[in-house]
Amino acid sequence: MDDNSADSLRRSARNVIEELRELAKLTSNPQGAQRLAWGPVWKQARAWLKDKVSALGLSPEADAAGNNWITLPGESSRTVIVGGHLDSVPNGGWLDGSLGVLVALEALRRYGQGPKPPVTLRLVDWADEEGARFGRSLLGSSAAAGRLNVGEIRELRDADGIRLEDALRDHGVMLDTMLNARQQLARIDAKAYLEMHIEQGPVLESINRSAGVVLGTFGLERNMVRFVGQAAHSGSTPIAMRRDAFLAAAATALECREIARRHSAPNAGVVCTVGVVKVEPGIVTAVPGVAEISIDQRALDPNVLASMHREAQDASRRFAAENGVSVEWRPLFRIEPRPFDPHLLALCEESVREMTGDAPKLPSGPLHDAAEMVPHMPVVMMFAYSAKGLSHCKEEDTPEEHLEKAIGAFLLLVDKTMASVARA
Ligand SMILES: [Zn+2]
Repeated sequence: MDDNSADSLRRSARNVIEELRELAKLTSNPQGAQRLAWGPVWKQARAWLKDKVSALGLSPEADAAGNNWITLPGESSRTVIVGGHLDSVPNGGWLDGSLGVLVALEALRRYGQGPKPPVTLRLVDWADEEGARFGRSLLGSSAAAGRLNVGEIRELRDADGIRLEDALRDHGVMLDTMLNARQQLARIDAKAYLEMHIEQGPVLESINRSAGVVLGTFGLERNMVRFVGQAAHSGSTPIAMRRDAFLAAAATALECREIARRHSAPNAGVVCTVGVVKVEPGIVTAVPGVAEISIDQRALDPNVLASMHREAQDASRRFAAENGVSVEWRPLFRIEPRPFDPHLLALCEESVREMTGDAPKLPSGPLHDAAEMVPHMPVVMMFAYSAKGLSHCKEEDTPEEHLEKAIGAFLLLVDKTMASVARA
């Protein structure tokens, strides 16, 4: 890219914002965006994108999982992929997913105008990131990553009883061959995957920054922890003789917060939540004999997550012993952390700093398609400011002055990545 001047980046950012508005107008009603995956409005959004890229002499190609790829060939087959998703939740916002696709479109436009770029640039519009209709998020990208278990989704139906398998077939995607998307991705000489997304949280707004460097997606350790003591009369049982399951659970919950605080290095954003508390017999005149709590711990560093998990287990045993109760852990769900690539993180930091004067770093709580690409190629994401941290609703917004800077920073990241891959 010979023109990455501030003026050119600002013009490009204005294009992106205008096209985001155009897409929102075409695919929203007063309740918000309606681009539900595998539905008619989503199809319309993809047709709109097809028109946009045909003006550049390019056309989308679907892989076996229904992901749309648009390729601008370069002098070399070494490829930079820029991704996003056009699908939305019902009554969604104008930026979630579509921001990523439309900055990628603008990148194609910038590189498509001059001489052939040194390396190949690809846009990918992932199919069904949201999982809003059938309940399986990251459907297209997990198929391309080879992580999708087709057996697990075969029987999925939407609220109207329509089978996922039938909805996919209507869009030319066959359940039994959709994992071929893995081989299709493997044939790409992919050297970098970049994704821009709105933060969907309050951090950037709280420090009044337009854009942030995303360090990776959180790993998750989610368990139910059950304490069993002895229910007893609240009037006749002396404190010293009680086996109160709730007190053990409550002490554990408080200690879990301390554990998260202890492991919260700057930017690490470690979190822990006790979201479910069940007490039996649950009457005002009985010492609780049983207490069950959920413990949801998240961290970016796998070692930190493992320590947090171990320390929470130790704490629960200690408080159980102190209260004369037993404790048992039952795993609910776990995801390994997906830290992003150090070299791309450095380029992302440079880009955000050049455009906004500062480069805040933050982890991603939500999962994104980018996380599925981590085992396969170097990956980084950039977040844009989210007003009030709201997303998945019609109020979702980024003030235009912040959006413009964030888009400029991301396009600069594309330039730096293209140049770096060309040099490698
Ligand atoms: Zn999204």
